[in-house]
Amino acid sequence: MDFERIREKLTILADAAKYDVSCSSSGSNRKNTNKGLGDSSGMGICHSYAEDGRCISLLKILLTNHCIYDCAYCVSRKSNDIKRAAFKIQEVVDLTINFYRRNYIEGLFLSSGIFHNPDYTMERLIAVAKKLRLEENFNGYIHLKSIPGASDELMRKAGLYADRLSVNIEVPTISGLKLLAPEKDHKDFIKPMEKVKNEIIQYNSEKKLLKTVPKYAPAGQSTQMIVGATGESDKDVMYSAVHYYAKYNMKRVYYSGYVPVLEDKRLPALGTAVPMLRENRLYQTDWLLRFYGFDVRELLNNNHLNLDVDIDPKLSWALRNLDQFPIDINKAEKRMLARIPGLGMKSVNKIIQARRYRKLNLENLKAIGVAFNRAKYFMICDSRDWEKRDLTAEKIKSMILQNSQSKYQKLYNSQLSLF
Ligand code: SF4
Repeated sequence: MDFERIREKLTILADAAKYDVSCSSSGSNRKNTNKGLGDSSGMGICHSYAEDGRCISLLKILLTNHCIYDCAYCVSRKSNDIKRAAFKIQEVVDLTINFYRRNYIEGLFLSSGIFHNPDYTMERLIAVAKKLRLEENFNGYIHLKSIPGASDELMRKAGLYADRLSVNIEVPTISGLKLLAPEKDHKDFIKPMEKVKNEIIQYNSEKKLLKTVPKYAPAGQSTQMIVGATGESDKDVMYSAVHYYAKYNMKRVYYSGYVPVLEDKRLPALGTAVPMLRENRLYQTDWLLRFYGFDVRELLNNNHLNLDVDIDPKLSWALRNLDQFPIDINKAEKRMLARIPGLGMKSVNKIIQARRYRKLNLENLKAIGVAFNRAKYFMICDSRDWEKRDLTAEKIKSMILQNSQSKYQKLYNSQLSLF
């Protein structure tokens, strides 16, 4: 093996893959069988994230950064004058196995530029996963990117070897896609998603009836959207996410702040800051929709097109709906408890458990872990001495921000001080 050449390829193709954030590896339960290598079951995959939230626990590379397309937002676009490289199938297999044995990684995240055509590229991605599973008996985690436009038959095969499949929708709106990637057809993203969804449904129903059914993408499918490349609002982004969750049973939708790497008049100028805070607010919103019982229309609508940057979306909603507060900690149903700023679902469940035995007061809530400095404006409990009910939304917000330890507040303040 020419190690220098492999090292060079790795540098190029790992760097090109870093813009894809959809590499979380949760949800798989593949067991180590037949004395094989690796085990992605249960806690077998450790999630490791860089400070900016990006996953670092997988070998994350492109098979190639050659591409026949010219998507404006992509560093691998064909018109970009960059160094190109392509791995051979066996090279990716060897790298994965070697890195796994050295404990550097828990699995593989493999994507690719499109060379020749979508099916040709997809076949090669599948060939890597198939070799790992069948020849190397590798039971670690594999996330394969699905190539838009790949055939149904290939999508079926891909799910037999991968734990997770994903097709990145990339641009949240169809009009944005037309502007930035005019060669691509929205339908080419939808078709493989639809196929994966149907295969997963079939797998789940067959496994209830049959003793042994070949696994099909046990960690489900995900997608990713770039935010900040077109003028889309947070409402556009989140309505689109809700659509993909509902229609294609997405396990996760990822939001990736656009990193300006190319000069193009359709895109934000080089040097424009990556919208990290916006990305964070979108993830918080996503969380509220999936676990806190919020409807997207409550958080974003025509009167509120974008999330507040200085406060989180739950606090923002509470301040716009002060008529629904205060909520009685000792009586309210779970759904309403979850709406109190400063209460996470863990605290909500603990409160429900604890209030069976006694009326909860301020001290009890602090012991449970409620962020009282935030929650106190929105709740009542069995202690009343701290209560003040004549505060306006603006006043509450400024008092919370004053006391906030948030790293974002610092960022927000320094941004504001520039003007
Ligand atoms: S098809 Fe994928 S790799 Fe190719 S330019 Fe578009 S986004 Fe980049």
